[in-house]
Amino acid sequence: MRDITLEQMRQLLDVPIFHQIGQTADQLGVECYVVGGYVRDLFLERPSKDIDCLVVGSGIAVAEALGRRLGKGANVSVFRNFGTAQVKYHGIEVEFVGARRESYSHDSRKPVVEDGTLEDDLCRRDFTVNALAVCLNRERFGELVDRFDGLADMQDGIIATPLDPDITFSDDPLRMMRCIRFATQLRMCIEDETQQALERNAQRISIISQERIVDELNKIMLSPVPSLGFIEMTRCGLLPLVMPEVAALEGVEVRGGRAHKDNLYHSLEVLDNVAAVTADWSDEAAEGQTFPHKLWLRWAALLHDIGKPRSKRWEQGTGWTFHNHNYLGEKMIPGLSRRMKLPMDERMKYVQKLVGLHMRPIAIADAEVTDSAVRRLLFEAGEDIDDLMLLCEADITSRNQQRKQRFLDNFRMVREKLTDLQARDSYRTWTNPITGEEIMQTFGIEPCKIIGELKQMVKDAIWDSLIPNTHEAAREYMLQCAAQKGLSPVTPDNPTQ
Ligand code: ATP
Ligand code: MG
Repeated sequence: MRDITLEQMRQLLDVPIFHQIGQTADQLGVECYVVGGYVRDLFLERPSKDIDCLVVGSGIAVAEALGRRLGKGANVSVFRNFGTAQVKYHGIEVEFVGARRESYSHDSRKPVVEDGTLEDDLCRRDFTVNALAVCLNRERFGELVDRFDGLADMQDGIIATPLDPDITFSDDPLRMMRCIRFATQLRMCIEDETQQALERNAQRISIISQERIVDELNKIMLSPVPSLGFIEMTRCGLLPLVMPEVAALEGVEVRGGRAHKDNLYHSLEVLDNVAAVTADWSDEAAEGQTFPHKLWLRWAALLHDIGKPRSKRWEQGTGWTFHNHNYLGEKMIPGLSRRMKLPMDERMKYVQKLVGLHMRPIAIADAEVTDSAVRRLLFEAGEDIDDLMLLCEADITSRNQQRKQRFLDNFRMVREKLTDLQARDSYRTWTNPITGEEIMQTFGIEPCKIIGELKQMVKDAIWDSLIPNTHEAAREYMLQCAAQKGLSPVTPDNPTQ
């Protein structure tokens, strides 16, 4: 964090729009401040997109007057129900709100709102670091208002509420998710009292809509070290309420002196590993676009083992096993996504696919890396093969350096083979040179099981490099296989009945 003197603040805000806002407020005779995240991010030197302005009076009136002052190019939207207005001007977005005092009832996060003072407004804000305001009126331009020692907390890296945290969180339980999100995004610690209030109020998250919860989860996911957020959610008891399937991964069971790893902390490690390698990917996926998959690759990392608790078995002589946990996990994704209101489109299918396939490269790398195994993988993963390989490399969290190195070496071989095979043949979009139609015509038969069997035999032969990937070779091979099954082609001297 940097220090900012009054003079420096004046320079930072020496942009036409802030002067225009200040002059408009002066004309209407009201105080006006830039407030919240924008001010916090000036100190933290983070880029900030949205500008929030607080007016001690009517925010809407200032927005409308500003719109008139800016003239052409300014677009004003008024939300009377919320008492807010937005001004868009040459790519800048400014949100105006009147200072308010809020009182909440127990079962809703919609408060009763009255006009209030600057003080009233700052104390209804979620955290001290978000309760900073800088005056825009001409006489006090650049003057910082810091009623709750937000600067000191920022300096110490502490997230704390301006008022009693029990009241702040109980009034609007979404703030609990925001608390953990800011701690994760800004790499700050949650102050003790605030932490304890999270534990006491966790259950109140039930009145918050899934969409808002997911918004915060996505921001945690996109942070540099997302595990921090999930560890906080575990600590205060929010994780089982928000994502029971993930919370169920926690814990270690020991039998006969043999323990399995804690799958929650393993999953979080994988998530952090994926976060590290995707750090410089664009955030577009988070903004509703589907490519590239930064956010969804991270979701896949978090969820890759969710099938483990249900597939866990103790097997005499072997120890702990999690057979087919990848397929079980794959099956769990749609239900989880529906409940959490995650997108149910191709983004969900992508996560599902990676969860389902995440054991494959490991299985290949653990044995001999053959062409056919790599081709099969390439065929099933299609265009997501590179993401799958990233996930699988991130999944090697073994503390045994030798073991880890062996896997990484084998993965490198898988990757080399992948590149090689991609150049040689296009198994991503492979189609069988022999169709069911051709088989039916050749033998004069109706649709039946044998057609699928013959196609499978041809596919296996090509993928195992027994025959070349051409129609001629495939037909020849198919005829041989059919002969073994007692089928002969329909020819003029051999008509079928
Ligand atoms: P970011 O834009 O990075 O998410 P931000 O701090 O700007 O962070 P916004 O949601 O844009 O967050 O809100 C702007 C400001 O409004 C916050 O800084 C905070 O002062 C206040 N605020 C937002 N949501 C809440 C809330 N649920 N309870 C209390 N204050 C809030
Ligand atoms: Mg903001």
